Amino acid sequence: MKILITGATGMLGVKVVQALLERVPTEQLAVSVRDLAKAERFKEQRIEIRQADYEDPASLEAAFTGIDRLLLISSQGDDETRIRQHSNVIYAAERTGVGLLVYTSVSKAETSSLPVAEVHRQTEAAIIKSGIPYTFLRNNWYVENEIPVIKNVLAGGPVLTVAESGRVGWVPRVDYAEAAAAVLASGKHTNKIYELSGIPSSYADMARELTSILGKRVIVRNVDDKTYQEVLIANGTPDVMAEFSLDIQRAIRKGDLDVESADLPYLMGRPAISLKQSLTEIVYYLNTVE
Ligand code: NDP
Repeated sequence: MKILITGATGMLGVKVVQALLERVPTEQLAVSVRDLAKAERFKEQRIEIRQADYEDPASLEAAFTGIDRLLLISSQGDDETRIRQHSNVIYAAERTGVGLLVYTSVSKAETSSLPVAEVHRQTEAAIIKSGIPYTFLRNNWYVENEIPVIKNVLAGGPVLTVAESGRVGWVPRVDYAEAAAAVLASGKHTNKIYELSGIPSSYADMARELTSILGKRVIVRNVDDKTYQEVLIANGTPDVMAEFSLDIQRAIRKGDLDVESADLPYLMGRPAISLKQSLTEIVYYLNTVE
């Protein structure tokens, strides 16, 4: 049995590999990386390294040969690029007879209005159409995405949002990684869809937790869409990123990341890391490392 992790050099991929090392023998693991120069850590861990680029179908086929269980970590870029790259991966997995394709999707993929959701909708549909046995891990929001918000708070600002009482199931990447490793190691979750989420919380909850962690009052400032975008741009966020952030906030307001599910603790065999613990660690990191 051999498991291969794509996107292994990324922030999620590294953590999946780490979690898998605790569950399966190293010989059962392989990573596919686009840039071999970034694979030094895997060499030191004696993990088999294969080179593949999502844009290069031949490299994908070579990398997936002999692989039983494959993790496709969704790629990055515009929708067209990502859909093309994911199609290349699915086609190569089909050609090489991969027995389980695990895919990192997004919460409520069928209906979500998040700007990233269309890619996940189309990728899930393409995987189902391929006939490859699959597991969809519909990851909610990385709590690390909120680092700019927390930095702003540490600089004396409010938690700025347009999401009103919209809730998010924030957990750190390490939890999503743990769940992915559990699925890959067991191979028992064929044709299942999991909604991976922490306990849903609002930005007001986040402000409350930060108040308790920092020992000073942190306020949440709900503004209108236009003001939100203007503040981000005034703070140096490029226009296109400010628009992207606003679209995410709107989707949160609609409830697209409000997921109540026990799937994450079920797969990990432990409770998800709480928002308070995640924020405590981020604050510590920002105060000491950065
Ligand atoms: P990273 O940017 O850290 O990692 C992305 C990985 O994809 C890297 O290993 C990168 O390789 C690899 N990759 C990108 N393009 C290619 C390509 N053409 N061929 C092969 N490999 C490629 O992202 P994270 O690990 O933080 O997140 C993983 C994914 O989760 C993201 O790519 C995105 O789709 C999604 N995401 C989810 C979020 C959420 O909150 N749920 C938030 C943000 C993203 P290289 O190291 O060579 O660049």
